[in-house]
Amino acid sequence: MRRPHLGLLVRRRWVCTSCRSRYSSVATKATANRKSNLPDFPARTRFAPSPTGYLHLGSLRTALFNYLLARKTGGQFLLRIEDTDQKRTIPGAEQRLYDDLRWAGLQWDEGPTIGGPYGPYRQSERTAIYRSHTHDLIDGGHAYRCFCSADRLDSVARHRSQAGLPPGYDRKCADISAEESEDRASKGEAHVVRLKVDGYPMFNDLVYGKTGQNRPPKKLDLIDRVYDDPILLKSDGHPTYHLANVVDDHLMEITHVIRGTEWMPSTPLHVALYNAFEWTPPKFGHVPLLVDKSGQKLSKRNADIDLTFFKDKQGIFAATLVNFAALLGWSHTQKSDIFSLEELEQIFNLKITRGNTVVAFEKLWFLQKAHAQRFAAIRGPEFEEMVTRVSQVVDETYPQQQLPFLPPQTLAEYISPLLQADAKSFTNAEDFVQRNSTFFTRTLNRPDYAPVSDAPIPLATVHTAAAALTLVPESHWTIETHRFNINAYDGSGIFADETPAHEAVNDEKSRTNADKAFKKELYHYLRWALSASAPGPGIPETMSILGRKESVRRLEEARALTKDMAAASSAGPAQKVKGALKDGDISWMGSLAPQ
Ligand code: GLU
Repeated sequence: MRRPHLGLLVRRRWVCTSCRSRYSSVATKATANRKSNLPDFPARTRFAPSPTGYLHLGSLRTALFNYLLARKTGGQFLLRIEDTDQKRTIPGAEQRLYDDLRWAGLQWDEGPTIGGPYGPYRQSERTAIYRSHTHDLIDGGHAYRCFCSADRLDSVARHRSQAGLPPGYDRKCADISAEESEDRASKGEAHVVRLKVDGYPMFNDLVYGKTGQNRPPKKLDLIDRVYDDPILLKSDGHPTYHLANVVDDHLMEITHVIRGTEWMPSTPLHVALYNAFEWTPPKFGHVPLLVDKSGQKLSKRNADIDLTFFKDKQGIFAATLVNFAALLGWSHTQKSDIFSLEELEQIFNLKITRGNTVVAFEKLWFLQKAHAQRFAAIRGPEFEEMVTRVSQVVDETYPQQQLPFLPPQTLAEYISPLLQADAKSFTNAEDFVQRNSTFFTRTLNRPDYAPVSDAPIPLATVHTAAAALTLVPESHWTIETHRFNINAYDGSGIFADETPAHEAVNDEKSRTNADKAFKKELYHYLRWALSASAPGPGIPETMSILGRKESVRRLEEARALTKDMAAASSAGPAQKVKGALKDGDISWMGSLAPQ
């Protein structure tokens, strides 16, 4: 026998079972917290869209991650409208943002339309705040007014470009005295305010770790010294994005900024601004770019990913899109990928991947079907909405008199069990109605009937078995009855407990095979007869949804269509079918139904 390695024995110290489990759970929890990057205090997060476009998949994900971080930690989620670039603002975009966020279920705790203690939450209403903070920076020597004309800046730029030098500003105005600067400004001389940047700090990103270039200012040579010195306040007195963003995040006490990697190059400048104000910056986490399968960036300008495309054109549920967006670049340890928003609020962490995120739309449809099933099982308002949508499409597509059900049953009452039965295939109302078109008409275009296999099951036997299924009275016309009855058939098309002992197939294996072959043929025939071979709900469900009258009508129609075929098929096994299947004799059929 192999002896254990001595080293192992030496290192292992005895710990009693209860202590061991206590230690291990403490360690696991601590590791989990560290790994998940979650703060151990309530996070204040914000979504800060510019109304220069509509919500799209990438911005929905940003909003969602911020929302989830706030919810998971018991904090607040803010909405702030960054409308400093008035020229690019699209009329109506702000309202659409509200509508889309609400549709997705991402209700903000503070922000436009509801207010809050740190408002206003629209940057165009905060200009005075930015101006006064700019003055603080000027007073502290961290910023200065620049009176250079557009012409001068142009000629500096031209000169630098001709000399093959990178662009930049030469700090001509940085040396203007405070008095002169104040005087010229008060006389109305046009100017901007620049931040004096002498180095961009590194920062610790929640996703990417230590980030930034620790870039010194561009002092390229003694003759052509240039600096970044970015503009904070424009000549029209309005702030740039950088200034407004930093001032607001600070004043609104934002603790975590989760945003797209496209903002990562701006973050060192933001940190420099925090330092100039002597404020502690929030934690930054940049989420990776969304790309298509060929690695191309999904773009805001691509109408395909505008939220309305998913919502209105594709009929995607809010829950599906939120679930889909959550999985873009985020990893979890749950067994399934299907989450409601409430579940995401419980399990969210900041385990966000670094590489570009490939958006695979197959997943969207998988999730859509999963949520459809979830809604059908819960039967809540979302299910009612599905019924309404499908009813509308049916109304628009099929003439009322063609519908195969009769009052007092309503269209909604007819559609509801159909949706229950086929929710697993639900993508949207239009596709659903198309897929289940045979449920909305009395005219079936059946293809020519072809038996399922070469192993001949006489069609007459199948006919008789199908006819027997219709002998169930209205009162027992349920999914359970039909399922029970179909299952009760044996391999020769006879109800198992009706087979005379001397005729029963004794060999277990061949009986099973015969049973299977018969049922396969029967199902195949019934689907052809009842739904023109279209995919859809199972046969017991189909019969139950169509109702007794319409099912009988379809089966009789099908029988008539295949009469000649049945006559030509072998008469042997069909003779085994008992006289008990005569129409009208239904007393024994009723007893097959579970009571
Ligand atoms: N207004 C910026 C945007 O439109 C916000 C960037 C940020 O979250 O800091 O995306």
